[in-house]
Amino acid sequence: MTIPTSTDRSTGEPATDTAPHTGSTVASAADEQPISLTTTGGIDRASHHRLDEAWLAAAWSHPSTRVFVVSGGQALIEDKEDGTTELVMMPSFDAPFTEAHRYFLGIDEEGVRYFALQKDSLPGRMDDIARPAGLREAGPLLCDRDSELMVHAIGLENWQRTHRFCSRCGERTVIAAAGHIRRCPACGAEHYPRTDPAVIMLVTDDQDRALLGRQVHWPEGRFSTLAGFVEPGESIEAAVRREVAEEAGVAVGPVSYVASQPWPFPSSLMLGFMARATSPRIKVDGDEIEEARWFSRDDLRAAIETGEVLPPAGISIAARLVERWYGQPLPKPRRHD
Ligand SMILES: [Zn+2]
Repeated sequence: MTIPTSTDRSTGEPATDTAPHTGSTVASAADEQPISLTTTGGIDRASHHRLDEAWLAAAWSHPSTRVFVVSGGQALIEDKEDGTTELVMMPSFDAPFTEAHRYFLGIDEEGVRYFALQKDSLPGRMDDIARPAGLREAGPLLCDRDSELMVHAIGLENWQRTHRFCSRCGERTVIAAAGHIRRCPACGAEHYPRTDPAVIMLVTDDQDRALLGRQVHWPEGRFSTLAGFVEPGESIEAAVRREVAEEAGVAVGPVSYVASQPWPFPSSLMLGFMARATSPRIKVDGDEIEEARWFSRDDLRAAIETGEVLPPAGISIAARLVERWYGQPLPKPRRHD
């Protein structure tokens, strides 16, 4: 099964980010455009308040509450003088409030409540510095708190946008639970945000070489970890073995979980693994994966330094997995996409 990075898996609608549709099983999203793996940005989601309209109204009107607008997968970000980048937030009394599209995101350690407003467009730039950005740009720049808030809001927006009608009876649904439920007024069904688990794995052989593959349409030299969606009724460990077998023809034995990374394009959760091959024999599918190779650490370092290989970049989970095996940060690529 594939991991579409820019097309909604449930509807086939074009997603909001502009990356080309890959239809591929290599970690095209996670390796190129990282989002921090740190999902603990100090936000308590406080989900027990989501159905309490009186509490939500009081939280909304509190002067310390902060609000940001999301629209089409983007929010406004701002580079500060100290070199950091922040989400552009405002007090609720300055916010372009629309009751039907208010998402409650949680409370930070100082007691500040955060909301996102989903709008058809972002508000006008607040100054010369603020600019609209999607998660692919903003994710690596923002602090953990802002990154966590933005990922949550974009994930909700993606789901809300494509689940306006009841999957049971076809009636138009309405938003509830501060953005975390859609209810059907006709049949009473409640619909919850979906998260699609996907596995991403660094496979090694008995010589401790790493298996990296490249998609047919990738730039020349781009190699990364294999990845794919978990299927219904399948354990994540089984999904690791199936995907590696399908894409690279490699049989996998032991599988161990490493870390996860939210990837709301539109609704994936990347589950990172280390896996051990039982045989080094490679037979790529030739359809999604054009080439797969075993790299020793020396092989990979040399190939990166000569520009023959473009490795996974930045703080992505693919890069984390490769670096976990490599034992240190990867060499700087000689060239970039
Ligand atoms: Zn219904």
